[in-house]
Amino acid sequence: MSHEFESITPAIRQGATPEQWEDPLWQLRHSFRTASQLDQALKLTDDERAALAHAGDRLAVRITPYFLSLINPADPRDPLRLQVIPRTAELLRSPEETDDPCGEEQDMKVPGLVHRYPDRVLLLCTDRCATYCRYCTRSRLVSGAGSEKLHPDLTAALAYLRQHEEVRDVLLSGGDPLLLPDARLDSILTELRRIPHIEFLRIGTRCPIMLPQRITPSLCAMLRRHAPLFLSIHCNHPAELTGRTQEALGMLVDHGLPIGSQTVLLKDINDTPDVQLKLAHRLLQCRVRPYYLYQCDPVPGSRHFRTSIETGLGIISHMRGFTSGYAVPQYVVDTPGGGKVPLNPTYLLRQTPTAAELQNYTGHRYSYPLLPPT
Ligand SMILES: *Cc1c(COP(=O)(O)O)cnc(C)c1O
Repeated sequence: MSHEFESITPAIRQGATPEQWEDPLWQLRHSFRTASQLDQALKLTDDERAALAHAGDRLAVRITPYFLSLINPADPRDPLRLQVIPRTAELLRSPEETDDPCGEEQDMKVPGLVHRYPDRVLLLCTDRCATYCRYCTRSRLVSGAGSEKLHPDLTAALAYLRQHEEVRDVLLSGGDPLLLPDARLDSILTELRRIPHIEFLRIGTRCPIMLPQRITPSLCAMLRRHAPLFLSIHCNHPAELTGRTQEALGMLVDHGLPIGSQTVLLKDINDTPDVQLKLAHRLLQCRVRPYYLYQCDPVPGSRHFRTSIETGLGIISHMRGFTSGYAVPQYVVDTPGGGKVPLNPTYLLRQTPTAAELQNYTGHRYSYPLLPPT
């Protein structure tokens, strides 16, 4: 830790003592937001500098000093850099892109509450994140800069949930709910726990990766009181899973909080089987189960991040069977209005009246006998 701390460049460290560096509020207050701040930490490319002049009009730029310290300043193709520093391609809106690519607004029953599936809801409780990802699926309402503002109405959301007894699962997201103070989050979770039919809670967060300092023993102790509570972290590249992040994840798991990981498939960042296998193995080392691999949503300015669907299917077919089943996420496309659709490589080649013709992960064919018709 102290060795790592000593190696942080002065422009990123900004005079912090080791204690200050470990303070999440220090990290947030010293986040990098402008071209001139970033230029001191790493040499911006001309393209990045041009993008930074306008990118914040759509989605604010914000990067924690901690996350910036993980980026190799000499590499303009660094996979962490590409996720958080805007490029001019982001300023181009392509015809297939929409502000709300998952069609969430049509399922927003009260401000901040999206009810699309039969038994579970998405509760957007803040529009702020520690660091903004340039491909953000909710850039329309996150960071305060987009086309819409999120004004979650928690009272109305709780009233809706009390009335809707079919809801047994509430997913807190945003923005990043762990940016709320402990007491605020505790009170939201307490209110949800008072509703008898709500069995299961989850929080979607990127704090263990962007701001691991936020994961404190007191936060973990508070979250533990609301069990069963799962966390869904958002993690895209093995380089995000540093020793510091592993420590934060370990503390959460040790407090009885199971963790799944959601990854967005991103061009030139993690669009190869090799990177995805390394990521999955590193997640399992951190006791995190890969959950979903998302096809990148067509948000405005996302073309340079998106891959083909064949890329995603090819990655899964290079993982399934070749490694632990626990390491293989479900690949999904989130459709406008229709929710998540799982996509899988084809293993069932055809069926005859007597047998199913199957292909295993190596491509060899096998026959499985079918029951005779009754
Ligand atoms: C992703 C999502 C959920 C949770 O889906 P799971 O497949 O259960 O993880 C719930 N509501 C909405 C609107 C979602 O987009």
